[in-house]
Amino acid sequence: MEKTLLGKTEKKVSRAGFGVLAIGRTHRDLKDEEGSDLLLYGLEKGINFFDTAQYYEEYPVMKAFLKKAFDGGRSRDEIVICTKSLAEDAGSMRDAVDEALNEMDLGYIDIFLMHEVRSGQLEERSGAWEALRELKAEGKVHAIGISTHHTDVAEKAAELRDCDCVFALLNAEGLGIRKGETGGPGERLPGYRIPDRQGTREEMEEALGKCHDAGLGVFTMKALGGGNLAADYREALDYVFSRSFVHSVMLGMSSRSEINDLLDYLEGKLGEDYVPDVSDKVLKVNHDDCVGCGECMKACASGAVYYGDDGLSVIDRDRCIDCGYCAYACPVRAIIRV
Ligand code: SF4
Ligand code: SF4
Repeated sequence: MEKTLLGKTEKKVSRAGFGVLAIGRTHRDLKDEEGSDLLLYGLEKGINFFDTAQYYEEYPVMKAFLKKAFDGGRSRDEIVICTKSLAEDAGSMRDAVDEALNEMDLGYIDIFLMHEVRSGQLEERSGAWEALRELKAEGKVHAIGISTHHTDVAEKAAELRDCDCVFALLNAEGLGIRKGETGGPGERLPGYRIPDRQGTREEMEEALGKCHDAGLGVFTMKALGGGNLAADYREALDYVFSRSFVHSVMLGMSSRSEINDLLDYLEGKLGEDYVPDVSDKVLKVNHDDCVGCGECMKACASGAVYYGDDGLSVIDRDRCIDCGYCAYACPVRAIIRV
């Protein structure tokens, strides 16, 4: 697969990256053996760029995958590992990097991001950012950046001191793109949802164009809008792969057939009537377990969670981009894939 230089990170990455979230506990929930084999398959097919995160709880799968790759003769510099943390202060960020190094058994992390930066958080989490700068100077991480769904945050990344890259949400319909703070949950009133703060595709394009022009590496998530754009698979991928400011497109995949289909797409061999099977990708709230605490609502940057008639959470499929944030935030694990 074609490789490209990811801006200031100085890493050469495949045009399509592998989003590891898709094999984790909120999605396909593949066990270490099966999950690591799938990642290895992706590597064999030319994908060398892998994205995970502290809270995905998938470092054991990554470790198993990397061991298999190295045992098979791959060298460390052939594989680009990106991970990220929601850490809000310096100490937590240092712990997050050490955790990633230890749990994946690595000597360095290629790219470490401040995860899911929302409006206003660049200032609030400045201690975590300073820690990342220091960790880069110490050689524990090679490049640093931010991930975000927010256009105003992406815009600021271009001017963030020592920022090497930005990992942002972008798709043809602008699904899940935010702008401004989303607030917290209100009372448990039927129909309540956090007020919408929708950003536009055009605003994100402009922000990422600025990042690209400033030399940052730009890679994107949610090209298929969490499955909502699956019916227009080819058009959705055409859009994001043809943006001149995008170096790489991270795609969540959880089966060999999805990887094969992506390769067919990139090689222009995909059938005209292709529609991916996304039937196993629906998150729902189990009302037998939900206690209505609203943590999922706070975690959802897309305003997709609302209170149903019984005061318990419900997911609006039309707004959901399948990021899994709500499931990880739920204290009683009531959000499940069915
Ligand atoms: S976080 Fe979990 S328990 Fe709380 S409202 Fe959401 S689904 Fe229910
Ligand atoms: S409902 Fe959950 S999975 Fe869907 S967009 Fe919101 S946080 Fe992400």
